Amino acid sequence: MEKIKMSKPIVEMDGDEMTRVIWGLIKEELLNPFIELNTEYYDLGLEYRNETNDQVTVDAANAIKKHKVGVKCATITPNADRVKEYNLKEMWKSPNGTIRAILDGTVFRAPIIVEPIKPYVKTWKKPITIARHAYGDIYKGVEMKIEGKGKCELVFTSENGEEKRELIHNFPENGIVLGMHNLDKSIESFARSCFNFAVDTKQDLWFATKDTISKKYDHTFKDIFQDMFENEYKEKFEELGIKYVYTLVDTVVANVIKSEGGMIWACKNYDGDVMSDMLATAFGSLPMMTSILVSPEGNYEYEAAHGTVQDNYYKHLKGEETSTNSIATIFAWTGALRKRGELDGNSELMVFADKLEKACIKTIEDGIMTRDLAVLAEHDNIQVANTFEFIEAIRNRLEEIM
Ligand code: NAP
Ligand code: MG
Repeated sequence: MEKIKMSKPIVEMDGDEMTRVIWGLIKEELLNPFIELNTEYYDLGLEYRNETNDQVTVDAANAIKKHKVGVKCATITPNADRVKEYNLKEMWKSPNGTIRAILDGTVFRAPIIVEPIKPYVKTWKKPITIARHAYGDIYKGVEMKIEGKGKCELVFTSENGEEKRELIHNFPENGIVLGMHNLDKSIESFARSCFNFAVDTKQDLWFATKDTISKKYDHTFKDIFQDMFENEYKEKFEELGIKYVYTLVDTVVANVIKSEGGMIWACKNYDGDVMSDMLATAFGSLPMMTSILVSPEGNYEYEAAHGTVQDNYYKHLKGEETSTNSIATIFAWTGALRKRGELDGNSELMVFADKLEKACIKTIEDGIMTRDLAVLAEHDNIQVANTFEFIEAIRNRLEEIM
């Protein structure tokens, strides 16, 4: 069989610990035998980030802007322990945060559904993709503890010195206060990424805030989405037979639970933080979650939603057996390959991505799975596979399908 060719590269970002081990295996076992892989490689492993003063992360993000498609391995976000462990010059920032800031992107998280793992919500048949607005609100909040009696005000001083004031509260006693903000531009980028992703994946888009209570703050989110929809996306949505639905945030929660899934749920920052963990758990498992960063200009970065699976890595280093689930990392690759194929008109590459995903799902549906899935699965004949056996089993099925 001749290998599939790629005319343009995917930006490949290697990472850390157990996912770095898996990364190499996926390329060796599932990609290189079938594709003449064309990637521009960036090593985001913590050692090289430290060596380059994190410049490699910035370079990788700019490369995604140039080539439009990237795939990323999970990486360590350093904390005090990691600074010691890796003898770091600095506590480097989260690579995901750096890349997101450069691409001005929105993260879409979607579960991978397999028959033996039943979602906790019986009605859910299709994945629910969650999009989190990753700027502002309480994450850039300024807080104060109020001590004793006094007046607290919101004051805006314009460039030319004019003041606007709102009374927050006349405090009769001790209390607390919080100031937060957002930017129209950031909300617009978020909205655009959401509408584009809905068009891209031909799924309905749901958005919700609490605009009845928050008549200026949340209402601005509602208005920006509504205006953009009316002016730029309404016709496209009608052509595709998809809908944009706005409701109040409490209503959307009820509607999501009653739905059969298959939509994109756009969330304000805090809602997205909370609801993405709820959805990951309700769909069964964090190792089965993918994460796609979409910029308003149409750049895409694919990765697994989970981290570097540190505990398994230390076991692996000691020569002990591990059972790390590689599905989300494989689906990061298939997502990137499919998008590359779509942008370049390379249907062979898109078909390959479909086949590799099918091989993954078939493996699990045949009962061969890693331990994290085995404890959740409803299946008569489960064989728990170690990290390597699992990828080998996928390889065997892929060869059958090819
Ligand atoms: P994690 O690596 O996602 O692991 C948390 C736990 O989830 C693991 O201990 C394991 O549970 C389970 N798990 C996650 N992925 C799995 C997989 N593929 N197969 C089997 N089990 C899996 O998160 P963490 O332990 O909080 O963080 C570890 C490192 O990852 C940190 O340095 C953090 O900075 C980094 N991180 C990176 C990203 C990213 O790059 N996107 C995201 C999150 C965290 P059991 O203990 O039950 O086996
Ligand atoms: Mg959270």
